[in-house]
Amino acid sequence: MLADEDRIFKNLYGFQDWGLQGARARGAWDQTKSFIDNGHDWVIDQVKASGLRGRGGAGFPTGLKWSFMPKNDSRPSYLVINADESEPGSCKDREICRHDPHLLVEGALIASFAMRAHTCYVYFRGEYIRERERFQAAVDQAYEARLIGKNNIHGWDFDLHVHHGAGAYICGEETALLESLEGKKGQPRLKPPFPAGCGLYGAPTTVNNVESIAVVPDILRRGSTWFSSLGKPNNTGTKLFQISGHVEKPCVVEEEMGIPLRELLEKHAGGVRGGWTNLKAVIPGGSSVPCIPASACDDLTMDFDALSAQKSGLGTAAVIVMDKSTDIIKAIARISYFYKHESCGQCTPCREGTGWMWRVMERLVKGEADKREIDMLWDVTKQVEGHTICALGDAAAWPIQGLIRHYRHEIEARIDANRGASRKAAE
Ligand code: SF4
Repeated sequence: MLADEDRIFKNLYGFQDWGLQGARARGAWDQTKSFIDNGHDWVIDQVKASGLRGRGGAGFPTGLKWSFMPKNDSRPSYLVINADESEPGSCKDREICRHDPHLLVEGALIASFAMRAHTCYVYFRGEYIRERERFQAAVDQAYEARLIGKNNIHGWDFDLHVHHGAGAYICGEETALLESLEGKKGQPRLKPPFPAGCGLYGAPTTVNNVESIAVVPDILRRGSTWFSSLGKPNNTGTKLFQISGHVEKPCVVEEEMGIPLRELLEKHAGGVRGGWTNLKAVIPGGSSVPCIPASACDDLTMDFDALSAQKSGLGTAAVIVMDKSTDIIKAIARISYFYKHESCGQCTPCREGTGWMWRVMERLVKGEADKREIDMLWDVTKQVEGHTICALGDAAAWPIQGLIRHYRHEIEARIDANRGASRKAAE
């Protein structure tokens, strides 16, 4: 269990002052100038050494991503922070933005400096109105105290703009987010070129998740060795876990990467409703990752590598717990509807495939299907996965693959039951 002194987000629950004074008392904005005086490459090297992997879902090494930004380019560079947080189950970035916003402002300054950017945009999810207001208030405080802005006390001119989205899930995809920021329809771009070469307004850009940026000041203050000593090799540091569903006390909690799932649920969320043996399945990283059945949960640890070994993923670490009362076919069908609804419609496999998969899922819920359609559905998920412009196609395919992989027997039993009922009615 993570020791209190190792926590980065000391005001996660908003019990203390969110403002500049409170943030300073918790250690924010301390030594920031010395980090900047150490130079661009020093910051990147520290973040690389810490082993920090992106907290937005993909888990790409953050320092490495920063190092892709050009060093001598006549165009301006940009940092864009993704606060769109629309993945069902995810609710951690909002806690940072409303309760510990100065960690994000300070992190934005340091990360922008590392990438030679003088401007940063924070893109807020449309529904996060209060969070955006709170964050804007923290930005205003930082400007007033000359911590950021032109001729600030840190010696690196830096402007931070807060942008409010309109509530489309797809704008959380980094290139759709850039399109939206530019005032266009939020549709993902074909890659390459990647944002580091040609991003916002055609200039070098890095898009990072809120948590990835907010942990950076503490990594520099306490040292990369401290951060990398937490967690497991290749899965270092602390992580905000968001636990929802059939637990006694749903919560957001900061824990060490690689904590066993059972410990996470029992220590922080009051355990599974009805006890551990009442667990049916978990979706460990937000709605887009495949579910894991209870039989694989006993020794499961919550980190990137352990979860991908289970053919699932850590994603945003939004743990959705389902107990034995869950109709898992119906639950996954509801997720399929979400992705069908949020598809931007640019590419055929996603536009047509998400609707097709959802319609079959709806019939599977009622058992009104033929068993051979299960294989057909599996084939279609494989034709969508990896064949689209952005990862929404994968996000729509994976939950269904998880369902078929682990609960095929339930789907077949429902088809049999429906057949039996129809036969009886006919007789
Ligand atoms: Fe749009 Fe779906 Fe294609 Fe992504 S995969 S670009 S959401 S149609």
